[in-house]
Amino acid sequence: MLSEFELIDRYFAKRTAKRTDVVTGIGDDAAVLAVPGHQKLIVAVDTLVSGVHFPINTTPYDIAYKALAVNLSDLAAMAAVPAWMTLSLTLPESSETWLKEFSEGLFSLADEFSIELVGGDTTRGPLSVTIQLMGVQSKDKATLLRSGARSGDLIYMTGFLGEAGLGLLVSQGKLPDIEIFKPTLERLQRPQARVELGQALSGLATSGIDISDGFLADLGHILTASHRGALLYLDAIPLSPVYQYLKKEGLTSQWGEVAEASYMPDLQFALNAGDDYELCFTLPPDKKEALKSIAASTGCMITQVGLVEQGANIKGIDALGHTVPLLQGGYQHF
Ligand code: ADP
Ligand code: MG
Repeated sequence: MLSEFELIDRYFAKRTAKRTDVVTGIGDDAAVLAVPGHQKLIVAVDTLVSGVHFPINTTPYDIAYKALAVNLSDLAAMAAVPAWMTLSLTLPESSETWLKEFSEGLFSLADEFSIELVGGDTTRGPLSVTIQLMGVQSKDKATLLRSGARSGDLIYMTGFLGEAGLGLLVSQGKLPDIEIFKPTLERLQRPQARVELGQALSGLATSGIDISDGFLADLGHILTASHRGALLYLDAIPLSPVYQYLKKEGLTSQWGEVAEASYMPDLQFALNAGDDYELCFTLPPDKKEALKSIAASTGCMITQVGLVEQGANIKGIDALGHTVPLLQGGYQHF
């Protein structure tokens, strides 16, 4: 059985990327980081609790990957450049196979962004993973806040909506685990934070947020912070191609026994499903061309889905301009 210090040394200290701006990393009472004077420090922290944020049968690799990815998504939504992280790990037991897989998942993503693990804490208890991610941003660059949306700004989102939501239904056995749903499980377990795009939006977008609780809830956060309302073009919302497949083939006819009718995933489901980790942001109309070139250079799919207006509500309209009532229900712990 590994001691706590052997465990940290073998699976974390020796595996992490090494950065020149880390004066003292793992091994002392605290980490010492050299933040250059021309940069702002931007910090996010997120905890993943077993059975709450990931199903208990999730692989250690995916748990670690997701724990970092959700923090990367927060930093992306601020237009920050990720640099260092700390890891607080609560484990029921010290299993070497578990730790090996966990550290592989963690560093596969950390190495991609040259993030160094500079410290943490290891305790025994019910499985829970907390990562604190620190990033930098040049002081002359604009941070992307929730509060900057103005009336007349265009509302955009990246990628597809409701993909991870379908993945969750599959992982819960409410949809069948068949080939067509593979991309949805992938999205749920290994979210792709829009780090590069987020950074490129600094100085262009007036506000931004990552879509973690559900699109309506997260757009709602922007609107509340900005004291605005919005018009949402429902027919423009980019749904995962899997939805189109489901619509065409019909869900209940093929998998009647597995899928309960109440779980028939549709646009309203996608608008409220969490865990997509795409970005939602607002942009003044005169920045449209600049956004196009960013979309091209980052290879990121970006879609205009609405318009910021006076008021405080989100009004959904269909292709004919008719109002469609929106069913709201983003994820809240309390
Ligand atoms: P302390 O008693 O001062 O809290 P610890 O014994 O908890 O120190 O940790 C020893 C060193 O190992 C510290 O530098 C700490 O940051 C690091 N560490 C502990 N757990 C982890 C972990 N899960 N990942 C990375 N570093 C860790
Ligand atoms: Mg400690």
